[in-house]
Amino acid sequence: MEVCQGLMKPVDYDYKHGKVIIQFRCIKCGKTGINKAAPDDNLDRLLQKSQMG
Ligand SMILES: [Zn+2]
Repeated sequence: MEVCQGLMKPVDYDYKHGKVIIQFRCIKCGKTGINKAAPDDNLDRLLQKSQMG
């Protein structure tokens, strides 16, 4: 569970078994986590958006 309420920013992604695994890192405490995404999700836009924010 997140306790610091920091923003989980997507930092990387990987493909496993045909699925996309997005890696997140909390910008406050540095805690990492992963989340599955559909292959047709717009990852470029997701990561680009995170850089802008
Ligand atoms: Zn945190």
